[in-house]
Amino acid sequence: ATHQKIALITGANKGIGRAAAEQLAALGMTVLIGARDPRRGEEAAAALRAAGGNAHQVTLDVTDQATARAAAQQIDERFGHLDVLINNAGITGSGQVSPEDAHDQVPSSVNLDMVRAVFETNVFGVIAVTNAMLPLLRRSPAPRIVNVSSAAGSLTIASDPDGPLTGLPTSAAYTPSKTALNALTVQYANELRKNGFLVNAADPGYVDTEINNHSGYLTVAQGAAALVRLATLGADGPTGGFFSEDGPVPW
Ligand code: NDP
Repeated sequence: ATHQKIALITGANKGIGRAAAEQLAALGMTVLIGARDPRRGEEAAAALRAAGGNAHQVTLDVTDQATARAAAQQIDERFGHLDVLINNAGITGSGQVSPEDAHDQVPSSVNLDMVRAVFETNVFGVIAVTNAMLPLLRRSPAPRIVNVSSAAGSLTIASDPDGPLTGLPTSAAYTPSKTALNALTVQYANELRKNGFLVNAADPGYVDTEINNHSGYLTVAQGAAALVRLATLGADGPTGGFFSEDGPVPW
């Protein structure tokens, strides 16, 4: 019997996550479009099916553990296992908690509630979803977890006064949330190494999406390529690493 590969992508109703879903579907995987708004998730899944892909909507708000548990139960009943989890859902926090936060993540004046909201989604949400899905991933012959991080979360790059991100505004929320996500990636990789899991962090690059008001220069398809590469690694692939399409990204 052939093993049908099942991939769940969080925040896949738009942006990089949606493009990753399209690419995994094109590779023949069954893709589960995680979306906190079921209507918009279903729109994305229907568009993928219309293009010939095998896609289903799964309601999943990463900040709501009950939805993660319900999603896992649904996937269990329908497919019995999961092969790929891409933790893609993320927010910057800018303007998302209160309008005053729109352009200010400066450490000395940051709104702590905004910092909490960003960590809730970008870090704690990843733990909630990963742990809900782990029993299903353990039934895969080759489980892969991809955490969508950012070069902004690289301490090496951020602490280099001549580095490529020096011009960015300082951030006490988004940037440290991605650093924490990187740290978490290494810990999951270490725990799950003996079980054949490959767990890595992806840096999609600077991609044209709503998250940056479409200021990125890469297409969503180009950004998604880094996620898809890590989601489809062979058994000899790396685990506990941080990669963009240009290769390893320094921690
Ligand atoms: P988008 O804003 O286009 O997409 C973000 C997705 O995450 C949306 O589907 C959004 O859903 C979803 N989401 C947000 N909060 C939740 C939640 N609580 N539960 C479920 N889904 C949620 O941005 P991108 O596609 O650019 O971002 C995808 C990932 O890539 C993020 O983790 C981001 O940090 C990362 N990234 C992006 C870069 C870029 O240049 N664009 C650079 C580096 C990293 P909804 O539509 O409901 O809001």
